[in-house]
Amino acid sequence: MKLIIHGGFFSESQTNQEIKKAKQDTLAEIVKLGYKHLQTYTAVETVVYTVSLLEDCELFNAGTGSQIQSDGKIRLSASLMDGKSLRFSGVINVEDVKNPICIAEKLLGHDDRVLSGKGAKDFAREHGFGYYNPETPQRRKEYDKKLSDSIRLGTVGCVALDIYGNLAAATSTGGKGFEIPGRVSDSATTAGNYANAAAAVSCTGVGEDLVSGAVASNIVTRVTDGMPLSLATKKTFEELKTFDGFAGIIGITAKGEIYHADTHPYMVWAMCDGEVEVFE
Ligand code: ASP
Repeated sequence: MKLIIHGGFFSESQTNQEIKKAKQDTLAEIVKLGYKHLQTYTAVETVVYTVSLLEDCELFNAGTGSQIQSDGKIRLSASLMDGKSLRFSGVINVEDVKNPICIAEKLLGHDDRVLSGKGAKDFAREHGFGYYNPETPQRRKEYDKKLSDSIRLGTVGCVALDIYGNLAAATSTGGKGFEIPGRVSDSATTAGNYANAAAAVSCTGVGEDLVSGAVASNIVTRVTDGMPLSLATKKTFEELKTFDGFAGIIGITAKGEIYHADTHPYMVWAMCDGEVEVFE
């Protein structure tokens, strides 16, 4: 059993030790809770549970505390992939909900598995997900100050290998911040979140770069074809260099290789295989 999580890139001033410590402590706590869950639940159930905890944490740009888009609205995107059934489900730009990853989980059993905008919100309401405003005073303050020139990444993700040897990946985001309404994040695509029987990967970074590099699916395909995860990531990141692609990934293979990497400093992460390890 193995579990790895990320909280996106460290977007605050790198000297902000207080926020860094808060992120380290929070990720350590959440990875422990997720790992405990993995003792009794499957990889799919565990990645949903763990990402919902990350969504509920205001420190990260997913669920509560998400970035506000250019028209003043928060729109959330999240996806889930079950490496065993090869089912992918997700919601894109859904408004006024608390845990988009739980809506993605609900969609996993449906024929229509990726919903966007109003359709996603209507589906959520029909399935008992009530109104929720994910905005926090901090994000409104940032929006009001129009900090559009700073990098504001902080997507969350989780990858798990369960006791049965099955893999799953889940990713959730509030997007880039200040984007054009309707812009689609990579997080609810197979470029940002992908799993099969060989490997599972969750990404963060600039969505346009991740889609251009088909990052998650490319890494998983390379592992499927026999490459170690570290090498598959290195090769995929090489391809991003042609356009200075900005990406971070976490992943696990069926053989138990657990890995994280980023193209730029630096993604925040935590992992557990019994022992907890957190980014420095
Ligand atoms: N990948 C996300 C997006 O482009 C942002 C992030 O990872 O922080 O919407």
